[in-house]
Amino acid sequence: NIIIKMYQVFKFGGASIENVNRIKGVGDILLSYNNSNLVIVFSAMGKVTNMLEDLVDSYVNKKEDVFQHLQKVKSFHQEIIDELFDKKHSVRNTVNNLFLEIEWILEVNPNYQPSYDYDQIVSIGEFLSTTIMHSYLLERGFKNTLYDARDLIRTDNTYRNAKIDWKLTNDFINKKLKDKHCITQGFIGCTSENFTTTLGREGSDFSAAIIAFCLNTDQVVIWKDVPSMMNADPKFFDDVKPIEKISYDEVIELAYFGAKIIHPKTIQPLKKKKIPLYIKSFLHRDSVGTKIFEDLEIESNLPLYIVKNNQILISISDRSLAFIVENHMSKIFSLLALHSVEVNMMQNSAVSFSICVDNDKHTITDLIKD
Ligand code: ASP
Repeated sequence: NIIIKMYQVFKFGGASIENVNRIKGVGDILLSYNNSNLVIVFSAMGKVTNMLEDLVDSYVNKKEDVFQHLQKVKSFHQEIIDELFDKKHSVRNTVNNLFLEIEWILEVNPNYQPSYDYDQIVSIGEFLSTTIMHSYLLERGFKNTLYDARDLIRTDNTYRNAKIDWKLTNDFINKKLKDKHCITQGFIGCTSENFTTTLGREGSDFSAAIIAFCLNTDQVVIWKDVPSMMNADPKFFDDVKPIEKISYDEVIELAYFGAKIIHPKTIQPLKKKKIPLYIKSFLHRDSVGTKIFEDLEIESNLPLYIVKNNQILISISDRSLAFIVENHMSKIFSLLALHSVEVNMMQNSAVSFSICVDNDKHTITDLIKD
């Protein structure tokens, strides 16, 4: 007898598990889906990835405060563990071993490749969160199996921004993910030599999409603190409107141009397999949320806004005030490509061509020189 399980993939980001109250809330949500087959992807808790980034920065630059940074990460998790578990719980051992892994790295000199060290250290954030969530959910009566994302997601060795080997990843995921409720780490993969890689900041959304793609799941739900996707960031705009439905293509554009709601790589795999993506709120569980799928028209007349900070405007014209024509443009674009400068917006008039780009000192100074 072959039993085919249809899974849903749930992704919970750092904010959903940033303190004990929220962790309990995630427990409530998951218990209400006890009968469904779920793959649950967790990010690191709260701002742990940032804390670990600070630690790595201090380690690779041989600063003195490395162990202070480590202590910050330890205390953050310790407080949560003390509130959730009794003194003798085995989770404490597992968590201590994860911290030992960091300490072993810190004992030796940094690798010649800082991105390698980054991935080995920063990934521990996700191992910590999933270890804690796995044990906590068991205590709440939510049976679950913890899978190591390194056994599921195979990547190349582009540390910090690893590329997926889809063929092997597909084989691993389909062979290994078996249980009714599977928990795993977002953001993490593994090379053929068994080294941990990461998929780029905020990459857990992408992990959820990879798993959904390989398992052909019914849907993916990304649980957020906002009630739904909005037409603008409420931090910058009053009177923002919720978006109940929106097409994949529109979301790809928004994410690419910097809307913080979803990691830009998330949509392509889902679009290929026509798997709907829902944004739901872990705080307002009754709110409708947003459905992202094919050909969904947004409510007409609803403009979408993205705020991009720290932009610079470069206007280019010929000294003789000649018209800006195709051969100028082709020169300009080859320089942009050469210096890896991405254009966020552009406009051409008769005698000038203007672009808006991220103000990145490393690339812009050389570009302007050229
Ligand atoms: N923890 C990682 C980050 O903060 C990955 C993620 O949250 O998606 O970037």
